[in-house]
Amino acid sequence: MNDSRPTAPEQIVIIGGGNAGLSVAGRLHRARVGEITVIEPREQHVFAPLQSHIAGGAARASEAIRRQADVIPSGVRWVRDEVFTVDADAQRVHLVSGEHLDYDQLVVCAGMRMAWEQIPGLPEAMSEPTGISNYDYDLAAKASPVLRDLRAGTVVFTQPPEPASCGAAAQKPMYLACDWWRSIGVRDDIRVVFVCPDPVPFGIPAIDRELQRKLDEYGIEVRYSRELRSVDAGAGTLVIGHGDAEETLSYDVLHAVPPQRAPEWIAGSGLAASDDRHGFVDVDPETFQHVRHPEVWSVGDAAAVATRRSGGAIRQQAKALVKNMKAVRDGGTPSAKYNGYSVVPFTVSRGTVVFAEFDREGRLQPTVPFWRSLYRERRLSWIADRRILPWVYWHLILRGLA
Ligand SMILES: Cc1cc2nc3c(=O)[nH]c(=O)nc-3n(C[C@H](O)[C@H](O)[C@H](O)COP(=O)(O)OP(=O)(O)OC[C@H]3O[C@@H](n4cnc5c(N)ncnc54)[C@H](O)[C@@H]3O)c2cc1C
Repeated sequence: MNDSRPTAPEQIVIIGGGNAGLSVAGRLHRARVGEITVIEPREQHVFAPLQSHIAGGAARASEAIRRQADVIPSGVRWVRDEVFTVDADAQRVHLVSGEHLDYDQLVVCAGMRMAWEQIPGLPEAMSEPTGISNYDYDLAAKASPVLRDLRAGTVVFTQPPEPASCGAAAQKPMYLACDWWRSIGVRDDIRVVFVCPDPVPFGIPAIDRELQRKLDEYGIEVRYSRELRSVDAGAGTLVIGHGDAEETLSYDVLHAVPPQRAPEWIAGSGLAASDDRHGFVDVDPETFQHVRHPEVWSVGDAAAVATRRSGGAIRQQAKALVKNMKAVRDGGTPSAKYNGYSVVPFTVSRGTVVFAEFDREGRLQPTVPFWRSLYRERRLSWIADRRILPWVYWHLILRGLA
């Protein structure tokens, strides 16, 4: 005899209401997969890619921010709290408030943590009028007038090594600022030093050629294979290095991007691989299912996705994740696979972008198939990055429609 009693809807808990969490929530809700709860402590939702434009003087700070309540997809419950730990064996999430939530399926979308404290003197330097960054909303807003009004001196831009959230976006305000200084005739009075963790600007030859051309054109001094080691804001100096080699640079303005890692509670909950010192959620990088807890999933910056992290990557990840969660719910196995597609739109001037799209192996993956040279410096890519993508983000991506 069939049991006709209705079964309780599956409880799906999503940790984090950022780019990944809301895209996944919107998609799951439209696919009618269970009851969805998003846990997110912040009242304001920030579209991080615009922070580069803000820092470089090409967008207003207010354009990058919306009330979280206004962007949670309809039909999705928002718990304004913070996860303290996950007990994956008990399928329970413990919150900082002392409450807990039980789940049938858990999706971890907690992003990355900006580890400013890992560089001695960096937090103090960022609190000075000369310390700026596109990797923090307030510091990006602070950067805009600092770079706009500078007429002479030394500006050092630093990029951290991977893992990072769209790490090469560290370069975006640098090109925007150089273009501005050139347009007002002060470029020759400003020494610009770029501290790059790698031996090349990006790591894919076609993209490197485009970026190197711009670096040369702007006369930027590049310190390749160097990382920021410490800052002395009082003296206006910083130390960069590689192995035993160290160099001290003086600066008038420091645009720094901090080292990055997953939030510590992920490893504390046993969700990271024991040998992952950055503590990312230990998922299959193609299907996003956790390697030890099949009811746990993760996408976005917090997941061990084995590719460069970006918002553009999340669009593909969210599609595959939702297909796989549905397949498992229906008794199947996760078969949708993510190829590691990711993107970095380099704003190389105030009107052009080098649009780097690539897969896990570093092969170019243009959005428009067969347009192999789409990555080249173009006005069209600027319009897409500055005008179209923000609209698509607020109206489609966060609702799980794109
Ligand atoms: C400056 C900058 C520029 C960028 N530029 C680009 C670009 O041009 N193109 C591009 O494609 N990508 C870009 N990116 C990358 C893109 O923004 C990220 O990949 C994307 O935002 C990651 O989404 P996410 O949801 O994984 O993380 P986030 O958007 O960071 O969201 C994580 C959320 O989890 C929440 N959270 C954290 N801990 C907890 C907890 N304990 N409990 C509950 N919630 C928690 C946080 O409050 C946050 O809201 C850029 C990133 C930065 C920082």
